[in-house]
Amino acid sequence: MLVLVINCGSSSVKYNLIDTENEKNVCKGVIERIGAVTSIVKHEPAGQKHTKHTLNIANHTDALQQILTYLLNPESQIISSPDEIKAVGHRVVHGGEMFKDSVLIDEDVTAAIEQAFDLAPLHNPPNLKGIQAAQKNLPDVPHVAVFDTAFHHSLPNKAFLYGIPNRFYRRYKIRKYGFHGTSHYFVSRQYYKLVNQKAEDTKVISCHLGNGASIAAVDGGKSVDTSMGFTPLSGLVMGTRSGDIDPSILFYLIEKEELTLANVHALLNRHSGLLGLSGYASDMRDLIEEASNGDRRCQQAIDVFCYKIKQYIGSYIATMNGCDAIIFTAGIGENSPLIRKRSLEQMDYLGIEIDDKKNDSPERGTIQKISTESSRTEVYVIPTNEELVIAIDTAKIAQASDQSPWV
Ligand code: AMP
Repeated sequence: MLVLVINCGSSSVKYNLIDTENEKNVCKGVIERIGAVTSIVKHEPAGQKHTKHTLNIANHTDALQQILTYLLNPESQIISSPDEIKAVGHRVVHGGEMFKDSVLIDEDVTAAIEQAFDLAPLHNPPNLKGIQAAQKNLPDVPHVAVFDTAFHHSLPNKAFLYGIPNRFYRRYKIRKYGFHGTSHYFVSRQYYKLVNQKAEDTKVISCHLGNGASIAAVDGGKSVDTSMGFTPLSGLVMGTRSGDIDPSILFYLIEKEELTLANVHALLNRHSGLLGLSGYASDMRDLIEEASNGDRRCQQAIDVFCYKIKQYIGSYIATMNGCDAIIFTAGIGENSPLIRKRSLEQMDYLGIEIDDKKNDSPERGTIQKISTESSRTEVYVIPTNEELVIAIDTAKIAQASDQSPWV
């Protein structure tokens, strides 16, 4: 089945056309700077020339129309009619407590995603815009929502409750939700397949290290704890997000610097993390380069980033009372031997030993074991593919909805 996967940000739409029969990507692309004078369109059909254009794209509906125009371009012959797209899968960041699985989008689902605006103000509003724009352009196919939070629904109460008055959980649903669920789900499944083990018999720690970063403890195939929380701001140090900090720092800063709520929000989400620590860049490649040139603050930013990862790994080994494998994925996790090595430094007490040679030269884009043969815990690099998870879930639900109107 050909499934169009859509991932909408406030001024961008990423798209992937995936054939779920052979799990192959047919075409991918991104439209950025929607609403600006010039929008940038990158269109990458598999096995064909990639193109980059500037266009004027006013809103998400126009963006979806433009994507269809590209897919229908007779020269590239990706599809010859919109009818070939049998379903659309949408990445939705926050499903609140309501969505434990992916769902067919109807009015109730749309209303529930809207209700979760409060919980994810940066993500859910553009996600919903994307759904509405895609429904306008492809009105006759099923649209399915796949939630970043869904995989973490298995967290036990002791892991998801915060130490604040319980009435705030009851009244506002303030709790840990966790994110990057599709990625943690995908890489842990890849590992079970690789070692030919049942999910129930394994304990895995999945480290999704990209611009956003989170770690999940996956015990018996289920997420039992994860580093992001009520929002994607907590946990690890990220590109521009602070990760965990003592909440009292905020009271102190509000008073000292006379900050508004909006200032605090921007400070923690856009000016902190690697960018804030280094005063130089949020991009790990830039930091590694400057650190190797001797820049102290870039070196420190990397130190803090890796130390946090190490601490979470240690704590999740305690959570699960063991760990069979640690998985690194996403932009930094898949591509940086340095960060992988530094994050697992001096963990031989816990049975973790990296093979430097394997770690330094994994083949890009493939699954690689990077631990030594004597390491009690195996360590892997496993490329993530969140879009494929969305496409497969979407195809399943679209097929089921074809057979029964009550899905
Ligand atoms: P993502 O959000 O998964 O696309 O990951 C983006 C992050 O991956 C950025 O911080 C990039 O600098 C980082 N990244 C990509 N390639 C490399 C690399 N070869 N070495 C270190 N970091 C990398």
